[in-house]
Amino acid sequence: MRNIDHIVSSVKASPAPGLVVDRPLPSPQVEYISPFLMIDHFGPTTVPARENGGAGLSPHPHRGFETVTLLLDGAMEHRDSAGNHGVLRPGDVQWMTAARGILHAEYHEAEFARTGGSLHGLQLWINLPRRFKMSPPAYQDLTAARIPVVEERDATVRASVRVIAGEFGGIAGPARTFTPLLVLHVRLRAGAMLEVPVEGGEKSGWNALAYVIEGAAVARTPEGDVPLAARQMAVFARQGGALSLFSDAGAQVLILAGEPIDEPVASWGPFVMNTQQEILQARSDFSAGLMGRLEGVPY
Ligand code: MN
Repeated sequence: MRNIDHIVSSVKASPAPGLVVDRPLPSPQVEYISPFLMIDHFGPTTVPARENGGAGLSPHPHRGFETVTLLLDGAMEHRDSAGNHGVLRPGDVQWMTAARGILHAEYHEAEFARTGGSLHGLQLWINLPRRFKMSPPAYQDLTAARIPVVEERDATVRASVRVIAGEFGGIAGPARTFTPLLVLHVRLRAGAMLEVPVEGGEKSGWNALAYVIEGAAVARTPEGDVPLAARQMAVFARQGGALSLFSDAGAQVLILAGEPIDEPVASWGPFVMNTQQEILQARSDFSAGLMGRLEGVPY
C-alpha cells in the first residue's frame, strides 16, 4: 500500500468571469501531479430558470493537453472548432483532446437553461507528452451507458467503481488516452472498503491521487489511517502499490493515477507546452486564427 505525501484542501478559483470553482489542483502545496494539471469542481449549485437561455463559457482556445469533463448533475452542451457537438448529462464524460489547438464553447443545454436545476461536475486538465502536443484535436463522448461499473461486493456493503480510463477489476474503461492513465469515479456506500491496485508500483512509480467529491473517506496507509474530508485530495507517494480507502458514512471519490510525463512544463492560461517559446507561438497562432473558428454558439 502507498503512503500519502500531501493532503490538499481545495481553494476557490474563478476560471472565467462569474464562474467559481473549488480547485484542489494546482494548489499552493502541489503544483502538478503529472500528467494531471488541474482539477476544477463546480457546484452543486442551483441554476435559476431563465427565459433567455442559461450561461456558459464563450469560445476560447486550448493547446497542448486534454480537457475531461465529468458531469454529475444538470446538462451541459459543447461545440468546438473541429465540428464536434455534444450534450453531457449526469454520469457522462466528455474527453476533448485539444492537442495542436481547438476553440470550444461550454454552456447550459437549452432545455436545462429554461427549467433550471442543479448543476454539478468536474473538469480535469490532463497533459500530453511533447510528441503528441501538436497532434490533431480529437473528441470522445463517453456517455454514462458506455462507462462500465465494477461492483465490489463485501458481505454487506459495496463500492461501485465507474471505469472511465484504464483498468479496474479486469474491466477496461472506454477512454483512449495518450499515456497510461487510470480514471475512476467511485461510490463508497456506508461501511465500504476499496483497494485500487495502481499499475507499476515500485517499478514505474505512477502518480496517484484521490479527491473526495462528497461525503468523507479514510485512506488506509502503512503509516496509519488518514481522514479525508469532502473537497480534500490525498496525493499518494510514487512508491508502493495499491490505494486503500474506506468510508463510514459514504463518499463519492475521484481516483486518478498515471505514468508521469518527465518533461518541462510551460503554461500560460489555456495553453500548456514545454517551453516559453512554444507558449509565444501558441499565442500568436491563436491570434492568427490558426486554432480554427467557432460560430453559431449562444455565448
Ligand atoms: Mn475550455
